[in-house]
Parts: sequence; C-alpha cells; structure tokens
Amino acid sequence: ASSRPYLIGGNWKANGTVASVEKLVAEFNAAGPIPPNTDVVIGAPFIHIPMLLNTLRPDIKVAAQNSALTGTGAHTGEVCASQLKDLGLEWVILGHSERREGFGMAGEDSKLVADKTKLAIDEGLKVMFCIGEKKEEREAGTTMDVCAEQMAPLAEILSEDEWANVSIAYEPVWAIGTGLTATPEMAQETHANIRQWVAANVSQKVADAVQIQYGGSMNGGNAKALLAENDIDGGLIGGDHSSWSFSTSSTGPE
Ligand code: PGA
Repeated sequence: ASSRPYLIGGNWKANGTVASVEKLVAEFNAAGPIPPNTDVVIGAPFIHIPMLLNTLRPDIKVAAQNSALTGTGAHTGEVCASQLKDLGLEWVILGHSERREGFGMAGEDSKLVADKTKLAIDEGLKVMFCIGEKKEEREAGTTMDVCAEQMAPLAEILSEDEWANVSIAYEPVWAIGTGLTATPEMAQETHANIRQWVAANVSQKVADAVQIQYGGSMNGGNAKALLAENDIDGGLIGGDHSSWSFSTSSTGPE
C-alpha cells in the first residue's frame, strides 16, 4: 500500500520432512505467477535448503532461519553467513522471538541479534530482522520501548547504505502461532511508530525505503486488509498456508 515493494516471507520453523518439502515444492511450482512488485521468500530449515534451491521455481527465494555470530571455524553445530552466501542464498531471518526466548536455553539478546545481522550483511546477505513485544508488554503500553530496544544496537552499527539489506519483521509475540492477529489498525499504528523511530534514529531516507513486514497469525483471510495499510509492506507467515494463493492482480498478494 505504498511505493515500496511487498516482501512475503514464509517461516517453516523446525517443520517438514523430505517428503513434505517435495510436496510443497510441487504445489509452489504449479501455482500461478507472483504478482508484480512482490518478492516471495521461504525460510526453511538448513537441511532442506539445498533441496529447495535445486527444485523450487527460481522466482521464489529461499532464506535460512538463523546464522552464526562467527565466521567459519571451530563452531560445532553452527552455520555461518558466509556458508549461506556460498550456497547461493540471498536472505536470512534473524532475531525471531523464538530464538530471542531461547528454547529453555539462554536466548539471543538485542546486541547479539544486531551483531549477527551486521555480519550477515557484511557477507552479502539480506536480513529479515524480527522484533516485537510480548502480551504483557503491549498491555503495559511499552510496545515501542521494546521495539526501540531491539532496534537500537542495529542502528548503532549499520551504515545508512547497509539498511538497504534489512527488512524489519514486526511480529507481536502474542500473535505468533496463536490465531490472534493484530487488527490492521493496531498493526499499522505500530508499523508507523517503528518507521518514525527509524527516521529519528537512522534517517528519513532509510525510514521511507525500509520494508516493514507484519508477522503473527497472518493468513489468507486477513492478509489483504493488513497489506492494504500504508506502512505494512509484507508478511512473515508461519502457520497454515493452505488458504494462500497467488493472484495475478497488480495490487499485491491476495
Ligand atoms: P505464525 O508465525 O504465522 O504462525 O503466527 C509467524 C512467525 O513466527 O514468523
């Protein structure tokens, strides 16, 4: 709903098998054209990425869901941004709330997510940079304080030019996987506040250009209204996508 292109991300999280990925690829490859002015990127588990790169239609891009804070070396179990780039990836999702929370281990703090983002950009990747408040934080009226705390270390270390490789994914934690979606008005208000924060803390130029995706129970039923809002430039979708379809209209995803 602006001159910015749409960015529609899928987040498969730790889901899928070889067989289910094969089936999804066949469905995507048989689907209609992607609307103009729209990029579609699937965030897949590392192990399924080579398969997707080899079989998925080339106009759908593939993202990783994490990358290491380090370059290559003695970091057992990690995958580095340079390795993702080497494989042919363009995108990585960083700072998802599930990773910030930590799966019962120490989670990722805002400085760490910013440092990973900087490293990924240095290696030539684009980053979907996830932010968002928890339920109690929204109820306490601190949504923007939380988002600002999550963005501040990134604003400190990125140059203005490097922001061209960032899309901010605003994902209120209370809406992720819960079926509760922010209303378009509620999401628009926060997206506008985030854009204003970027204008004040990075530059007006970056604020005008940066894509801000909405994530949190976005689906075929509510996407159109959300994407019609002026500051909502796309989505990051984890849940059931069975009701999604590509439209050929020029107004963006249906
Ligand atoms: P959801 O997940 O669409 O299932 O709410 C979004 C996300 O976690 O990125």
